[in-house]
Amino acid sequence: MKFGGTSVEGATAFQNAARIVSERQGLRPVVVVSAMAGFTDALLNSVREALNGDASSAASTLDKHFDRHLRVIDALLDNETARMRDLIDESRVEIAELLKTMTLEVGQGQSQRKRFADAVASFGERLSAAMLAAVLVENKVSSTDVDARLCIITDEEFGCAAPLIDETFSRSKTHLQPLLESGCVPVLGGFIGSTLSGETTTLGRGGSDYSAAIIGAALAAEEIQIWTDVPGVLTADPRVAPKARTVPKLSFEEAAELAYFGAKVLHPKTLQPAVERNIPVRICNSRAQESGSTLVVAETEKSPQTVKAIAHKTGVTTVQVTSARMLGAYGFLRALFEVFDEHRTAVDVVTTSEVSVSLSLDDTSDLPAIVAELEKLGSVNVEEKRAILCIVGEGLRSTPGIAARIFSTISDINVSLISQGASRINLTFAVEEARAREAVMRLHREFFENSDEEASKYLATGIETTV
Ligand code: ADP
Ligand code: ASP
Ligand code: MG
Repeated sequence: MKFGGTSVEGATAFQNAARIVSERQGLRPVVVVSAMAGFTDALLNSVREALNGDASSAASTLDKHFDRHLRVIDALLDNETARMRDLIDESRVEIAELLKTMTLEVGQGQSQRKRFADAVASFGERLSAAMLAAVLVENKVSSTDVDARLCIITDEEFGCAAPLIDETFSRSKTHLQPLLESGCVPVLGGFIGSTLSGETTTLGRGGSDYSAAIIGAALAAEEIQIWTDVPGVLTADPRVAPKARTVPKLSFEEAAELAYFGAKVLHPKTLQPAVERNIPVRICNSRAQESGSTLVVAETEKSPQTVKAIAHKTGVTTVQVTSARMLGAYGFLRALFEVFDEHRTAVDVVTTSEVSVSLSLDDTSDLPAIVAELEKLGSVNVEEKRAILCIVGEGLRSTPGIAARIFSTISDINVSLISQGASRINLTFAVEEARAREAVMRLHREFFENSDEEASKYLATGIETTV
């Protein structure tokens, strides 16, 4: 059971999370928890501020966040108050020391900075885990916090580390199974891990979902539950389409596409461990359990609604390489992708014609060097400020005319890089970033708000989110 930042944003949320866990004690849960909402941002901000100037004033920007923790402790704890207050004070001192050491030792070296950033950011999840375990104990649930860094072992890619799966699985079992067998609920911080040599790492922003899935897979859990602030995966981002509604069931593949192309409710890597061990993933609303949830399972299910959900991702750059050399030649694509490989830059969507290749990127940190090398292969055109829209549904495979309906809905918006995955459950394309919201709104209206009877039968009963 993973609780995100808003599910532990304050005393009421902590108490609520503890109640949700205690009601499910019989299922022998392991709990994974995020930092209190906004705390990871604040911790990473303090690292940036320290690098720009004064470490002690950077540390003091965190005071109000420690106060938020103290308010939870005072509101909910009785026996554990002193121990937890001490833990907060120790963390405050340790973070201040880390920031100071960083400014003295590191200068601007990128890899060293990331090491310190991970060490500082880890306090968010570490404190939440200790506090939630204490709140559970206060609620008469046998519970203890377990340092996630003992369980999740990663490579040394600070800021975006990848778990070493065999090591992680065996250590997770060693640390967690005896607790489960003794009836204790282990609580771990998400997002964090450690290298084989014991240095703290993080799995990338939003990575607590991924932690939960890794731990779930390690223990062969019956289900991985993601408790968040919305009733499951919705038909679109509710901040763009306020009438978005819960999608009751998705296949792993559908959910993975949505997560990858911007449905923030699931970290893009969450489904990987679940798919490998065929563990269902359920996304639930910690604020209103009865308001709906999404179950993600291996089997596909066609909805009468053909399109199940729309995801979108902004901040994308597209690159087009055109070259007559491609005509009838082999080896060209290999040479092209080697450039991205060398610069460790992931490519998202790719389309090709006889003489050109178009692709999209999130990470443009090495783009000038990449373009310089691509120019040896052909003429290069870069378009920044793009967005990717991804329309998902098993039914896309077999419904004629769906592409026509999609593109005629947004016929005045310029579309590029149209791609349909091999499994044909998604249609993905790029638009200008400035028009992405409008495109999502219009498509949502077309596919979900002109509710015909079949649609309303399939979709959960009329929950309108207020996010
Ligand atoms: P947590 O802190 O619980 O991990 P996140 O903020 O990471 O929560 O993810 C939940 C948020 O994801 C929602 O509040 C919503 O704004 C956003 N979101 C974007 N797209 C979707 C979608 N298709 N379905 C549900 N939520 C979405
Ligand atoms: N606290 C981390 C973040 O804000 C991880 C998470 O919440 O999933 O990115
Ligand atoms: Mg999240």
